Amino acid sequence: MNRTVIVGAGTAGVHAAMELRHRGYAGGVLLVGEENHEPYDRPPLSKEFLKPVAEPDTLRLLPAQIARDRGIDLRLGLLVTDIRATAQEVVLSDGSIVGYDHLVLATGARGRPLTVPGADLPGVWGLRRLEEAEALRKALDGADDVLIVGGGFIGLEVAAAVRARGTRVTVVEFLPRVMARVLSPQMARYFTQAHRHRGVEILIGTGVTAVIAGPLGTASAVVLSDGRTIPADVVVVGIGVQPVTELAERAGLHTTDGIVVDGRLRTSDPRIYAVGDCARFDCVVSGRDLRLESIQNAVDQARFVAGQIAAGHRPQADGDAQGSSYAALPWFWSEQYDMKLQIAGVASAEAESVVRGDSASGSFSVCRFQGERLVAVESVNRAKDHLAARKLLTADPARLRRVTRESVANGETALRALLDV
Ligand SMILES: Cc1cc2nc3c(=O)[nH]c(=O)nc-3n(C[C@H](O)[C@H](O)[C@H](O)COP(=O)(O)OP(=O)(O)OC[C@H]3O[C@@H](n4cnc5c(N)ncnc54)[C@H](O)[C@@H]3O)c2cc1C
Repeated sequence: MNRTVIVGAGTAGVHAAMELRHRGYAGGVLLVGEENHEPYDRPPLSKEFLKPVAEPDTLRLLPAQIARDRGIDLRLGLLVTDIRATAQEVVLSDGSIVGYDHLVLATGARGRPLTVPGADLPGVWGLRRLEEAEALRKALDGADDVLIVGGGFIGLEVAAAVRARGTRVTVVEFLPRVMARVLSPQMARYFTQAHRHRGVEILIGTGVTAVIAGPLGTASAVVLSDGRTIPADVVVVGIGVQPVTELAERAGLHTTDGIVVDGRLRTSDPRIYAVGDCARFDCVVSGRDLRLESIQNAVDQARFVAGQIAAGHRPQADGDAQGSSYAALPWFWSEQYDMKLQIAGVASAEAESVVRGDSASGSFSVCRFQGERLVAVESVNRAKDHLAARKLLTADPARLRRVTRESVANGETALRALLDV
């Protein structure tokens, strides 16, 4: 029988399985997930889930009943431990061996560990999985001083959730600004001020060198690289993620900070695809080799691969001209306090910025230009700009070239209108 095995029941794995059925794929679909919970969404874990009275139901991604109804064989609490590529089989942690025609790796990422003395003390928390979020939420209930290591999206979202509880919070960021990997300096400055205005202490350009235990043997303070000691009974680590690639490596697939895939998201073995946080691909839209950590990327890549499989594309190595390449526009969002940040496109650090609208109004955008080309738009509470940007950035190159710094700078002109120029 024709069978697709999907490894990892996170966003990418679930969407691959659902899309296969949506497209009428008649073969078997086995979805194997290491975590014991029914598949859930991670974004709320650093946002509404940290509120004192969060609704766990808001997390559900694929209830077991729906999997059954769709003919998806969902097996939870199990690892795929090995791939026997030549035999087209996977080995599961319960000892069973399952054959496949197509294999989709959706193994995701894990939080990068903090590797300083004291990082393993009780009171130091990561935030990737549901049980970590549950434990952190409980710890926050009794916390006096929360310290967040890392001023990225997750760190700042947690800071906002902690302030909403009225608890003292400090964010320590090693780089010269927050969210430095992805945001323009202008937008980073705006978010820094917004957090400071709400009482968050943000320390820039300094790192954590140790976590110190108090009399009970739990975290009580951290030492910074500039010599300061800051009290902290809850320490949250948000310093990025590492792709989960061990299974692919053992199978001899090509990996470099991610499982390397081609334009059709096939690994170095064309019967095996990789999607989501674990996959490194050539992003057609940005012209860069990327690994993205976002829901959009996980969903769009999963759907693309399911489409390939359902369409019956024969897995062949070179010279397979069937179908087109994956070319979705990357976009992302974050929520902090009453600010909804949305980013369309990808900009490199040196991209120039043009501000649209008045940041003092709390609703504005920053348009990023690489040379003369618009490559990304960051918007706060300006959803219309974001939606228009997603259209603009995927418009044909001739139209996109007509979008200039001058044309976007006028905040009174709808970005959408530039599509019709
Ligand atoms: C707290 C938090 C907040 C976030 N907020 C946002 C946001 O606001 N917006 C946004 O766009 N993105 C956000 N993200 C990122 C987004 O959640 C990820 O990009 C997305 O979950 C990636 O999906 P994935 O399926 O590729 O990987 P994952 O969600 O990591 O799922 C992979 C799954 O595979 C399992 N697995 C790994 N190896 C095996 C194996 N060998 N056998 C079986 N199972 C295996 C893992 O246990 C895991 O359950 C957030 C992430 C976190 C942690």
